[in-house]
Amino acid sequence: MSELRKLNHLIGGEPVEPASGRYFESTNPATRHPLYEAARGDAADVERAMVSARQAFEDPRWRDLSQTKRGRLLRRLGDLIAENAEELARMETLDNGKLLREMRGQLAGLPEYYYYYAGLADKIQGDVIPASDRRVLNYTAREPLGVVGAITPWNSPLTLTTSKLAPALCAGNTVVVKPSEYTSATVVRLAELVVEAGFPPGAVNVVTGFGAEAGQALVDHRGIAKISFTGSTSTGSRIASATAGRFVGSTLELGGKSPNIVFEDANIPNAAMGVVAGIFAAAGQTCIAGSRVLAHRSVYDELLELVSARAERIRMGDPLDETTEIGPLAFEDQRDKVAGYVDLGRSEGARVLIGGRSSDGGLGGYFYEPTVLVDVHNDMRVVREEIFGPVLAVMPFDTEEEAVRLANDTEFGLAAGVWTSGLARAHRVATRLEAGTVWVNTYRAMSPMSPRQGFKSSGVGVEHGTETIKEYTRLKSVWINTSEEPVSDPFVLRS
Ligand code: NAD
Repeated sequence: MSELRKLNHLIGGEPVEPASGRYFESTNPATRHPLYEAARGDAADVERAMVSARQAFEDPRWRDLSQTKRGRLLRRLGDLIAENAEELARMETLDNGKLLREMRGQLAGLPEYYYYYAGLADKIQGDVIPASDRRVLNYTAREPLGVVGAITPWNSPLTLTTSKLAPALCAGNTVVVKPSEYTSATVVRLAELVVEAGFPPGAVNVVTGFGAEAGQALVDHRGIAKISFTGSTSTGSRIASATAGRFVGSTLELGGKSPNIVFEDANIPNAAMGVVAGIFAAAGQTCIAGSRVLAHRSVYDELLELVSARAERIRMGDPLDETTEIGPLAFEDQRDKVAGYVDLGRSEGARVLIGGRSSDGGLGGYFYEPTVLVDVHNDMRVVREEIFGPVLAVMPFDTEEEAVRLANDTEFGLAAGVWTSGLARAHRVATRLEAGTVWVNTYRAMSPMSPRQGFKSSGVGVEHGTETIKEYTRLKSVWINTSEEPVSDPFVLRS
């Protein structure tokens, strides 16, 4: 058997072998075939990456680069991603099992994130502040933070890394990325494109490896100015505790258990398709999955019938095949976790209306059937906990008040869907939902221009839009005495 390709860290613009000499295998979840061996990073590798990122941060080629030119580099990076879209899409499909057609769609949109932040780069500015003494000039400057640590999950590595890289670079920081141990390949390739775009070596470094080793070492590193994390709520909570004690800021994009509420005045066929897209796209492995459906009792049966009929027709199989609609779960433990949750649901009294079985998808991979659970209530763990798989729980409600109460009765607050033809109701319910994103008569829409924030246990801080620039900068206030006069009374605080 031929030896597997070795994927190394990317540090200072160069491939770097792991200090320990150790690698770990990454497999294609659709077929279980080994794909490559990634460098198993540890504290020594993180140290090298941090030194490289710090040098790049202080390098006059980066530090003194005009903001407009920074924007130009981001634009070039967007172009390179567009030119290499097919390679990146295929690579990610092989690594995590996402449909190739979904990846092609993601790649079509990905350059827009870099173009958006390219345009924003020379609009980052401070203000002149009115001073009580006209001889004093007081102004503010928005400065980059330093070296940002970006830690990302496996479900959408390119997009979720981009949500951090684009604004961090736009604001003048440098970055060390620790991608998920399940999906290292596209993030390393993306960092190669950063070098090709003309960013100084070390502006973006990637250390591959496991969370407890490379991830923890990055979080614990004394030189880190900020951690930007996307992943589970439990890891996010650990990172928040580790960084808070050192007064290191963090942006945390965490888990969800998002409600999709279908009112009696909704277009029910449209709502049914929105429900299907909300939970079965990407095999339910999205943080914004609409995993809880609340349906008004008068339309509950009709909605269930439409959703189940479409879900049963979902074509499962090879994610590289353009006609496939659901691929595998990203790795074996994830498939077993999903199967375990459905078994737990059964033991809690839920009824499996459709699905509920593992499958090898005809390819030997880690598949799970689209599954709909009914006879559920809000106290069940399958309704309260994030499953991160193609498992939908459906519940009836009688009044708008009850729908809002059930929707908000969760520790999470990432997203929510509302299906209604009532204009007033749409606004009223959107206002009352405790979720950072609310979609009305649509689901899963996203754009670099639109800020997103997880409420409650779904996160801290904002990604996307102009707001996120604040997450990657700090504000300095500079006071200048423009007169030649001495300080009048040195013992009195002056304003
Ligand atoms: P995870 O928390 O297990 O891992 C995420 C990353 O953290 C990985 O790179 C992992 O190696 C690293 N990590 C693990 N332990 C660490 C530690 N102690 N210190 C530092 N790093 C550590 O999450 P996952 O299973 O990869 O991803 C799925 C989760 O991500 C789901 O909960 C999902 O909802 C969430 N997610 C959230 C968003 C969002 O925008 N809110 C988007 C996508 C995914």
